[in-house]
Amino acid sequence: MKEFNTISPETTEELFNAVNITENFRFGAGCTDLIFYIRKMPASDDEFTVINLKKLKDDEYCSIKVQEPFIRIGALVTAAEIVRDKTIKNFFPALNRAASLLASRQIRNVATIGGNICTASPAGDITTALVALEAVCEIASSTNIIREIPLSEFLVGVRKTALAPKEVLRAIKLKLNKTQNNCYSDFIKIGTRKSMECSIISLAYHFILNENGEIEKAGIAIGSVSPKIMFTSSACDFLVGKSLKQLKDDDRSSFANHILNYASPISDVRASDWYRKQVLFNISKGILETD
Ligand SMILES: Cc1cc2nc3c(=O)[nH]c(=O)nc-3n(C[C@H](O)[C@H](O)[C@H](O)COP(=O)(O)OP(=O)(O)OC[C@H]3O[C@@H](n4cnc5c(N)ncnc54)[C@H](O)[C@@H]3O)c2cc1C
Repeated sequence: MKEFNTISPETTEELFNAVNITENFRFGAGCTDLIFYIRKMPASDDEFTVINLKKLKDDEYCSIKVQEPFIRIGALVTAAEIVRDKTIKNFFPALNRAASLLASRQIRNVATIGGNICTASPAGDITTALVALEAVCEIASSTNIIREIPLSEFLVGVRKTALAPKEVLRAIKLKLNKTQNNCYSDFIKIGTRKSMECSIISLAYHFILNENGEIEKAGIAIGSVSPKIMFTSSACDFLVGKSLKQLKDDDRSSFANHILNYASPISDVRASDWYRKQVLFNISKGILETD
């Protein structure tokens, strides 16, 4: 494996000093993805440094805070912390489920939300849930300017994000309305095994229902079926104003076809493109079957 140096800043000032003086570096958080990246690196002469974010003692990066109308989740929050958080469990069940299905307990204890997003895998579980929830990314840089960008735009392609070279993901924000607790929300993950497995198809959905059971707002995202995780706008629009109980089989098929329009899966050793589309169609219909 390539040898590397490590810098472990404890304050934001130290972090950006390190960023400004280091040439060839990558951030490391839980390092569960980074380690594979380093293993594949050619053993060239260029010095390589990991700027280890885990020692950072800055609440903006490390905590989950309700700041209505938002909940802010720091980039260094782990999957295990997301699973334990009561507000997330009550108001964003899709995110709770996605975090609880990520890898194993050991990995969840170190894997961070920021790492899941910034690795920009089309199969990122937490990221798929966050795209459905229309998360916004808070990005920091040494100029002290914080910029915000919707997560669906932050993800550019396979392993590509909209981060500039010296920028760091600081947190994500989700719209939180504590009076609006009537939600229908979950994350579905299809893999070849039950645990320690990246998905071969995933779907996250989050619907807000009004007192009559009609869908007031819908967010749906799909993972592992296109180069990046996709928000399925037309499928969401299709549902708004409808009541789940009154949907007919034809409606459910139309909805599933809307979802399929966003899928461009590949065939690989784990599943064919045909299989991925069939299963995606079926699980899309399935989430609307409430009985
Ligand atoms: C055995 C195993 C099983 C796995 N199973 C799953 C699974 O079921 N589902 C799933 O989604 N993933 C899975 N993964 C992948 C991985 O665990 C997750 O993507 C995890 O969330 C990555 O977080 P991390 O903190 O370890 O990221 P790291 O490895 O530390 O970083 C990942 C990338 O993001 C960058 N980065 C990290 N934090 C920031 C930041 N704040 N700002 C800018 N860039 C940053 C790093 O430079 C690196 O390029 C698995 C990995 C392993 C090893």
